[in-house]
Amino acid sequence: MDEAPSLRQRLESVRERIGRACARSGRDPHTVRLLPVTKGFPAGTIRDSMALGLGEFGENRVQEAEVKIASISPRPRWHLVGHLQRNKAKRATQLFDVIHSIDSQPLAEEVSRRALEAGKKIACLVEVNTSGDRSKFGVPPDRVRKLLEAAGAHDGIDLRGLMTIGPLHGGPAGARRAFQDLASIRAECTRAGLLPEDADLSMGMSDDFEIAVEEGATIVRLGTALFGRQA
Ligand SMILES: *Cc1c(COP(=O)(O)O)cnc(C)c1O
Repeated sequence: MDEAPSLRQRLESVRERIGRACARSGRDPHTVRLLPVTKGFPAGTIRDSMALGLGEFGENRVQEAEVKIASISPRPRWHLVGHLQRNKAKRATQLFDVIHSIDSQPLAEEVSRRALEAGKKIACLVEVNTSGDRSKFGVPPDRVRKLLEAAGAHDGIDLRGLMTIGPLHGGPAGARRAFQDLASIRAECTRAGLLPEDADLSMGMSDDFEIAVEEGATIVRLGTALFGRQA
């Protein structure tokens, strides 16, 4: 039986695939950031990744991340990519550098309040529910502008862009539609002055990141493609 590919090989292969998707869509590969998502994997996996030069990581639960974040130094940049409950906003603002999952005005308000308490301004993305199926989280597309207006008024929040999770069903065409939707929402919100010119599009996971890159992703969130399936 063949040996399982090493992390180094998986990373190379993912970078090649991102590179080819960029070539197909006329993009500069430097405009796409690879965000390894380490949920379910131990601190050792993160250390191995750091040894290969990776410097930022995504986790999807505050509690799970807490233990790992405490045990790893030097500290990489930490992104919260999973749903955030309001009662965990305090911990989240202390632990993370970027929150990808702002999806309501009360959550934005609480995150801002807690960030200011911690003496910081935290980078945030608004999560948009572009598919309606995979997740009950994320703000519906027609309410993004309102949420950006509200979140942008809070001093503890630095609005950096938008995030979405591709649909579970609908195959590549469904994923492409969702990513196109997010890209056009970003364009509209940038024109309206609600997002910066270089606003991030956090979209694409192991099954659909090449499509996401073709549609303009600036951050792809990869777990399985880099680390394999969880035992
Ligand atoms: C787990 C997770 C990922 C990575 O998923 P893979 O399919 O394993 O690449 C990306 N984004 C979020 C929000 C996740 O929870």
